[in-house]
Amino acid sequence: MSKELIVESAQNLKKALPLMMKYSVPTTPNNYALWYHYVAETNTPLKEAMDKLLASCEICPPIQAESIYREHVMPEQESETWELRTTIEKMMTQLDKSIIDTRTDTNQFQQSCEKTFANISKVEEEGWSIDEVVSLLKNLERDAKLMRNATSFFGNSLAVAKNEIDSLKEQLVKSNNAAMFDSLTGLFNRHAFDTELTAYLNKGTKGLCLILCDIDHFKSFNDTWGHLLGDQVLKAVGRKINDNMRNGSTAYRFGGEEFTILIPQTNIRIARHFAETLRKQFEKISLKDKRSGQQINNITASFGVVEGKPNETMADFVARADDYMYKAKKLGRNRVLPI
Ligand code: GH3
Ligand code: MG
Ligand code: MG
Repeated sequence: MSKELIVESAQNLKKALPLMMKYSVPTTPNNYALWYHYVAETNTPLKEAMDKLLASCEICPPIQAESIYREHVMPEQESETWELRTTIEKMMTQLDKSIIDTRTDTNQFQQSCEKTFANISKVEEEGWSIDEVVSLLKNLERDAKLMRNATSFFGNSLAVAKNEIDSLKEQLVKSNNAAMFDSLTGLFNRHAFDTELTAYLNKGTKGLCLILCDIDHFKSFNDTWGHLLGDQVLKAVGRKINDNMRNGSTAYRFGGEEFTILIPQTNIRIARHFAETLRKQFEKISLKDKRSGQQINNITASFGVVEGKPNETMADFVARADDYMYKAKKLGRNRVLPI
């Protein structure tokens, strides 16, 4: 860090902290970033927004300060996620309101229908006049129209929501790609794997090993125990892999029930040994199904291990590991290949 920067940041600290105290602002990292930028006076829109906010209140209102932070300080990626969340929340609220409105309309329609039907049975019994019958029919027509409007309004709301959901899904895929971690297991995600492996391959594959592992019969596990417990297995497997990581190796959730581990500066013998350790560790996983109280401890996986060849492409490297993994499945699963 340059000397000027150290002096400058110390000056900003001296200005920011007393002000934060004065306005009773907790010195959290986000707040500090906001106030640091404010006293540094390098970001004019931020300074103006803060001046305006502080001029209008004796305190520093946390929500408004937070939105200034989001608008002017927050990194772009974080802010995209925030926007996405806000849009989803808004849409949910609107949809929720439409559902409640439609339910109210439907209930009213039902009550009104019941009343009309009760009257219809009286028509004959009590010998109603034509005028009375016509007015009954008019009521029925009016209710039906109201109901038609309500359902078509709801239908439109649903169509709008459907479009929004489609576009949100696309944005989610993008923002997930921008993120590095898999939310279920906490391991790195597929995008991180591709990025990391590309960087390794650019430097040459000498001594780079890849372990690919795939949980055995996981579909039937889900079918037997349910998806939620399946997710717990994925978490437990992720934890076991993470606990057994060694220097330089990184683990990724490659896809559904498939995991990869990259180990640089090693050789196939050591990598196979590592995979064997993981295989045995998975066998030790034990989970309890809360509904039946049954203990589950037959989690296994099949492994393929490869060492990089000179000038090998990413696709070929992964495909070789995949081939070994499939051979391991064919030979009866719960094993590491090549031997
Ligand atoms: P094999 O031993 O040959 O690998 O059989 P398998 O059943 O494990 O393989 P298959 O590819 O047929 O099925 C994979 C299953 O993994 C299907 C899918 O429902 C499940 N799966 C994928 N991702 C998740 C997830 O995030 N959570 C849960 N619970 N299940 C998942
Ligand atoms: Mg699979
Ligand atoms: Mg599988």
